[in-house]
Amino acid sequence: MRSSILIIYTGGTIGMKTDAATGALVPFDFSGIYDEFPSLKRLNVDIDVQTMSPVIDSSNVSPDNWLTLARLIRDNYARYDGFVVLHGTDTMSYTASALSFLLENLAKPVVFTGSQIPIGVLRTDGRENLITAIEIAGARCGDRPAVPEVSLYFQNRLFRANRTTKRSAEALSAFRSYNYPPLAEVGVNISYNRPAILPPAAAEPELRIAERLCDGIAVVKLFPGLGDRVLQAMLSAPGVRAVVLETYGAGNAPTSERFLRTLEEAIARGLIVVNVTQCGGGRVTMELYETGLRLQKIGVLCGYDMTTEAAVTKLMYVLGKELPDEQTRRLLQIPLHGEFTI
Ligand code: ASP
Repeated sequence: MRSSILIIYTGGTIGMKTDAATGALVPFDFSGIYDEFPSLKRLNVDIDVQTMSPVIDSSNVSPDNWLTLARLIRDNYARYDGFVVLHGTDTMSYTASALSFLLENLAKPVVFTGSQIPIGVLRTDGRENLITAIEIAGARCGDRPAVPEVSLYFQNRLFRANRTTKRSAEALSAFRSYNYPPLAEVGVNISYNRPAILPPAAAEPELRIAERLCDGIAVVKLFPGLGDRVLQAMLSAPGVRAVVLETYGAGNAPTSERFLRTLEEAIARGLIVVNVTQCGGGRVTMELYETGLRLQKIGVLCGYDMTTEAAVTKLMYVLGKELPDEQTRRLLQIPLHGEFTI
């Protein structure tokens, strides 16, 4: 059975090629994809392309772009078997994490990819990333899609999107998923790690998407010498409703009374604080040391082994629902789309 795939090009390095006349990098026109990559015809897929307008460097991506992307996928959901989103690498993990929450009852593959070297440059990593992402988006396992979740493909590995983080501005293997195994590894064959892949959401013909994201999120990274007054100013900045607190090691923070009082007062005022570790790998275990236990006692929520990217976008999504406080806190303490392991 042939699959039909929609490629959505949002911008970023993957979409650049060298202009033969000037030598400058100019956007690549993905609508001519079969002329550029005739080998794509050999894949068992039909491809359509939509280019977001305007195409943007991913440093300029905003939550509004995420909502637009979610709507585009929803509006085309019935027509395609899978989606490939081409995105700049710099903020790809944020966009891909956000989409994992926004696409609420997803039952089809949405594969993000990009490249470190423009697609029009001879040594590009974009060609392989693109072709394999298309193959994965169209792959089936029996009568259902092989990877019915939001994923990110880069340099021979397919990851759960909301577990990824960009770790290198130089290496071609730019992304890591420290706390969750790859969903697939690509060599001569594509080897799917089936037990690690989420089951599709209960089949509903239409995709449900969230329509609102909260913009009152801040990230506070601890460092020795972070002043109490600075911390207080950050926690009480106008509009801040939730903070991702990047703590040390297994979720540890200073035990000084002033530090804890500042946090406790902010939580008492209604601020939500989620504890994630600033280490790449590993998890927050707040009961392990006195320093983490004190945070738990004052109402800081455990972020388990969640990335900052997933924590930020999950808070935007959950707070965007404007639920009663207790329900908000409950949703933050359970994995919604495999974003953490308890
Ligand atoms: N600045 C580019 C972007 O993120 C880098 C890339 O695509 O790799 O849009």
